[in-house]
Amino acid sequence: TYVVTDNCIKCKFTDCVEVCPVDCFYEGENMLVIHPDECIDCGVCVPECPAEAIFPDSDPAAEPQWLRLNRDYADQW
Ligand code: SF4
Repeated sequence: TYVVTDNCIKCKFTDCVEVCPVDCFYEGENMLVIHPDECIDCGVCVPECPAEAIFPDSDPAAEPQWLRLNRDYADQW
């Protein structure tokens, strides 16, 4: 799955939401998150993110705290 990280906080762009083929972006408190069970790993959102906030979960930037936060916020919907 792909994960949204801290660069997204307070970012106002929603380019990622528009390109995601499965609509798996959700609104968190002050950032967007990706639902880990709905993401199909296509990677289309990564180059669209102007804040460079999205990483595959295999990337070191996808720290455990962000994995947890993406799931927690996405589960609230
Ligand atoms: Fe959506 Fe693909 Fe990005 Fe996953 S990797 S959030 S499916 S655009």
